[in-house]
Amino acid sequence: MDFALDQDQSAIRDLARSFAADEMAPHAAAWDAEEIFPVDVLRRAASLGLATIYVGDEYGGSGLGRLEAAIIFEELSAGCVSTAAYLSIHNMCAWMIDQFADDALRARILPELASMSYLASYCLTEPGAGSDAASLRTRAVKAETGDFIVNGAKAFISGAGVSDVYLVMVRTGDEGAGGISCLLIEKDTPGLSFGSRERKMGWNSQPTAQVIFEDCRVPASNLIGAEGDGFKIAMKGLDGGRINIAACSLGGAGAALQAAQTYMGERSQFGRKLENFQALQFKLADMATHLEAARLMVYRAATSLQAGAPDALTHCAMAKRFGTDQGFEIANEALQIHGGYGYLKDFPLERIVRDLRVHKILEGTNEIMRVIISRQLLAK
Ligand SMILES: Cc1cc2nc3c(=O)[nH]c(=O)nc-3n(C[C@H](O)[C@H](O)[C@H](O)COP(=O)(O)OP(=O)(O)OC[C@H]3O[C@@H](n4cnc5c(N)ncnc54)[C@H](O)[C@@H]3O)c2cc1C
Repeated sequence: MDFALDQDQSAIRDLARSFAADEMAPHAAAWDAEEIFPVDVLRRAASLGLATIYVGDEYGGSGLGRLEAAIIFEELSAGCVSTAAYLSIHNMCAWMIDQFADDALRARILPELASMSYLASYCLTEPGAGSDAASLRTRAVKAETGDFIVNGAKAFISGAGVSDVYLVMVRTGDEGAGGISCLLIEKDTPGLSFGSRERKMGWNSQPTAQVIFEDCRVPASNLIGAEGDGFKIAMKGLDGGRINIAACSLGGAGAALQAAQTYMGERSQFGRKLENFQALQFKLADMATHLEAARLMVYRAATSLQAGAPDALTHCAMAKRFGTDQGFEIANEALQIHGGYGYLKDFPLERIVRDLRVHKILEGTNEIMRVIISRQLLAK
């Protein structure tokens, strides 16, 4: 077992690190405060191959693996958690299209996603179907022409209103997971509209809104995979998505840890630098240890998923649960080390904490990760 990054992986990490430092970190506070979605910066990231990281190179993807994606998202997230996290969702959608759509759809859409002239959103959650996503009610009925007529609404959709393509899980059949299909719905489709932008605790550099379908006519050629495969496709996308979200937690936590280290060397109380108090030294040691443990789990899950290992699902759920819990705790402790200053917007800590909080909720809550893990443990 070799834990060192190879030459290519180190180069990819360095590229993402300098992009985050130059193009993201200096603006992250303003994007958060002014709720700016930095599409121009995302397109510059795309020009470096970061929009279709684990998509094959046939239609412009970078053809890298899950581990490289995790390395990239950790680095980008150190610059801006919220923007990196949106990019991770775009990458997940691109992979789903590459993996499950037919050649015509792949050829038409993937090059646009690679350059980010099209942005993508993932639409599973509904107002009445969150953790129990298989109970979704958005319905697609086949017209005589073969087109699908879609009615219903999706909730909490990242990128909604700005994204150009929406991967929408719809009910085409009976109740339950087997009655769900996946449609690609384009932004200019008549009958597609958006709710108002949600006001959120964090993730403010990307819009979140409802996506509403009223007799929305979608060509049959926009079906991804076979009818009835939608739930499986959605879950397969999320396996990788969960690794990426955990990696984004590592990046935010790493930035917070770094800030705490620096601050402990600068701030004095009781006539001594904070770094001389053993209570804080131990806190820092625990934060670094937990970050390293979470990173190892993310790398393990990425390697497992890449290899198609039978227990990859469990590893992804474990990495998501542990990585996002630890990421949040580390950032929160870094805020504590900054005392009252950590609570001020002059420092990045409060933003990182707000941004990382939602990682415990989305792409399957951490309770649902425990459901997945325990189900495997107790399987007969
Ligand atoms: C900022 C943001 C962005 C998002 N982006 C997207 C997106 O782009 N696309 C998308 O499809 N969705 C998105 N989501 C939705 C997100 O995935 C859901 O919020 C999440 O899956 C939880 O669903 P819910 O909010 O309906 O909570 P609920 O499912 O109602 O859960 C409420 C609570 O009950 C717990 N719970 C539920 N069932 C169980 C159980 N069986 N055992 C134990 N505990 C349980 C949950 O863990 C949670 O704590 C986003 C959410 C947010 C906040």
